[in-house]
Amino acid sequence: MKICVLVKEVPDAAVEKRMDSNSMRLDRSGEKNLNPFDTHAIEAAMQIKEGGAVDVEEVVAVTMGPESAVRALHKAVSLGADRSVHLTDDALADSDVSATGYALAQVLKSESPDLVLLGQQSDDGECYTIGAVVADHLEMPSLTQVIKIDTAADKLTCERQAEYGYDTVEVTLPAVISVGDAINEPRYPSLKAIMGAKKKQLDSKGTGDVEIDASKVGADGSRTRVLAINPPPAKQAGEIIEDEDTNETVEKIVAWLDERKLIA
Ligand SMILES: Cc1cc2nc3c(=O)[nH]c(=O)nc-3n(C[C@H](O)[C@H](O)[C@H](O)COP(=O)(O)OP(=O)(O)OC[C@H]3O[C@@H](n4cnc5c(N)ncnc54)[C@H](O)[C@@H]3O)c2cc1C
Repeated sequence: MKICVLVKEVPDAAVEKRMDSNSMRLDRSGEKNLNPFDTHAIEAAMQIKEGGAVDVEEVVAVTMGPESAVRALHKAVSLGADRSVHLTDDALADSDVSATGYALAQVLKSESPDLVLLGQQSDDGECYTIGAVVADHLEMPSLTQVIKIDTAADKLTCERQAEYGYDTVEVTLPAVISVGDAINEPRYPSLKAIMGAKKKQLDSKGTGDVEIDASKVGADGSRTRVLAINPPPAKQAGEIIEDEDTNETVEKIVAWLDERKLIA
């Protein structure tokens, strides 16, 4: 089995997120890191590889992003991926979700994986959609919010976290699966793995290398336009209920919740 894990470089969690009012995009300058949700996808791949139920020939980390995104790939490799692929090209700048998913699918086609793993969301865009877009282009089944994977030769049995409980779904490979962050506790890279990461194979590819139709990516190839950006409304002051008489306090709290239809 060959596993590809999609990983993204995002602004570090400690950096305050700002919108650039000129480009109407997230200001991605400043300290960056591997999307924390993707460390769960890498860990899931490593657990399948180390679990021994199936023979995993390699785990490949794949990203689309500017030059700096190689650091996310180094991190992915230090967490266990065998090699990495970096899709980078000026033509890809300003791609929206649809264009990003198409471009990533083209890289994946050139790798022919049996299983594609992703994080549930990126820490910056938070669209939760790339898995479905990629699966559509690859014509593969897609599962989201997976928190348990049992592997067999040509199929997986997965548990999905849903609003009403859990779904158990069997999926035939090849498939695209985005994992929920409850699936595992990602490992920390060893010092040796960090030092060795830069020595592992990293292939840099442009749009021409993976047959990306340039008219389907970048700002012109994107189907969405950001028309306006607005700051979130300021938080209203909370209501303080003083506890002078506990029965009365409980009644006030229940009435407050009931008014907002927060209790059945
Ligand atoms: C008009 C417009 C222009 C934009 N321009 C840019 C831009 O110039 N630069 C930019 O970075 N973003 C840009 N974006 C945001 C870009 O569309 C999203 O970053 C991208 O579509 C992925 O969505 P997401 O990050 O919300 O992913 P989600 O769907 O929340 O992520 C789910 C998972 O998909 C995988 N994934 C997501 N993105 C990548 C990636 N690039 N490489 C590998 N794996 C990935 C990860 O495993 C992640 O955990 C733009 C958006 C719009 C609407």
